[in-house]
Amino acid sequence: MTVTIGVETPAVENPWHNAQRQFDQAAELFGLDPALRSVLREVKRQLIVSFPVKMDDGSVRMFEGYRVQHNVARGPAKGGIRYHQAVTLDEVKALAMWMTWKCAIAGLPFGGAKGGVVVDPKKLSLGELERLTRRYASEISLVIGPESDIPAPDVNTTPKVMAWIMDTVSMEQGFSIPAVVTGKPLSVGGSQGRSSATGRGVMFVALEACRHLGLDPGKATVAVHGFGNAGGVAARLMRERGFTICAVSDSSGAIYAREGLDIDALLLHKQRTGSVTGFPGADDVDGKDVLEAPVDVLVPAALENQITAENASRIRAKLILEAANGPVTPDADDILAQRGVTIVPDVVANAGGVTVSYFEWVQDLQSFFWEESEINARLEKVITKALNETWDMADTRGVTLRNGAYFLAIARVAEATTDRGIYP
Ligand code: NAD
Repeated sequence: MTVTIGVETPAVENPWHNAQRQFDQAAELFGLDPALRSVLREVKRQLIVSFPVKMDDGSVRMFEGYRVQHNVARGPAKGGIRYHQAVTLDEVKALAMWMTWKCAIAGLPFGGAKGGVVVDPKKLSLGELERLTRRYASEISLVIGPESDIPAPDVNTTPKVMAWIMDTVSMEQGFSIPAVVTGKPLSVGGSQGRSSATGRGVMFVALEACRHLGLDPGKATVAVHGFGNAGGVAARLMRERGFTICAVSDSSGAIYAREGLDIDALLLHKQRTGSVTGFPGADDVDGKDVLEAPVDVLVPAALENQITAENASRIRAKLILEAANGPVTPDADDILAQRGVTIVPDVVANAGGVTVSYFEWVQDLQSFFWEESEINARLEKVITKALNETWDMADTRGVTLRNGAYFLAIARVAEATTDRGIYP
């Protein structure tokens, strides 16, 4: 008898295993002390909350959420909150670890954290979303606070969601605590430039990486996978600086135009229709065609595990800027490195968001607010320095930019951990 086994579907990669694998590889090459290595490869604290929300139809639904702090040796924990139906504790742990490295590389006095709720927010009414957010904020108020752990927006969370979190924590304390969360609306202590900070950081990194590689932005073509906060702003600002954006995708589809897309018009089209597809003058294509598009620069700006061992050999860009967290798996990283593709890792490329979140936190603590031009100039300085220090480290030690970035981060976090000592 012949047994037919169906086509093997690749297992979904576990982001936490990938984050630990990236760290282990860098720690090994770096020669990190084994005791420090065992400390830094685990998360410090993980909170799992199950909570009820009253739905509009009168029913009560249970939700699960997480808040994870990876390391706080260099300062309060910092990291966004994600609302997505596929959120897992392991994904949040990976995102928290990446935040620790990101803050250290950018020289920000923060450790790393992340939060998430298992929910598809697009299926909730505004009232349900508010009640879910307020209850989740109340549940994690055990561990968040302006001196302990400061959340921010991530996938599917917005300034409005941040305002509800700020208000919930403030109501429970009896006074306003704007510095408990960043990415808020301007009216409640938000910062100028925060909503565009991640994409603006990607644009500064793109310009500097092109300078290192001898690429002329005016002649460089770009594909952006994920046209949300990070990807949409990166596309708009990179276009302003001369790049030609040829391909773009979001969760509903993808488009391609050889001569380039009018990004301002595309942003309006997406706002109007909810999707990038059907944009006049562009062809609707498959999502994977954006990752594999014939362009010079690829900006993955959606979710983890988009470039894997399966498609890495088909990527045609020579420069990848990781606007998303964890878009390239470790196996794909090896394949791309062998092919000579330069990858600016997430912990550098998307550090613009947390950098301006840091500025927002500082402004809230001082109740003294800066102009947007000052924010953008400071952001450029911080992120350009982070990229150049990463590039120098990679050149000096003969490693990839990801390992160069990890060397910087590991050295800084290990130094703080050693200086503080092991309690008690
Ligand atoms: P967002 O929700 O604003 O945008 C995500 C975009 O990705 C949406 O356009 C969505 O349609 C698209 N998308 C989802 N699945 C897709 C798929 N399979 N193919 C193509 N597109 C898909 O979220 P965001 O805040 O822009 O975050 C995107 C990434 O950037 C995440 O990895 C996040 O962790 C990272 N990031 C965000 C910030 C920030 O400040 N918002 C900071 C640093 C890193």
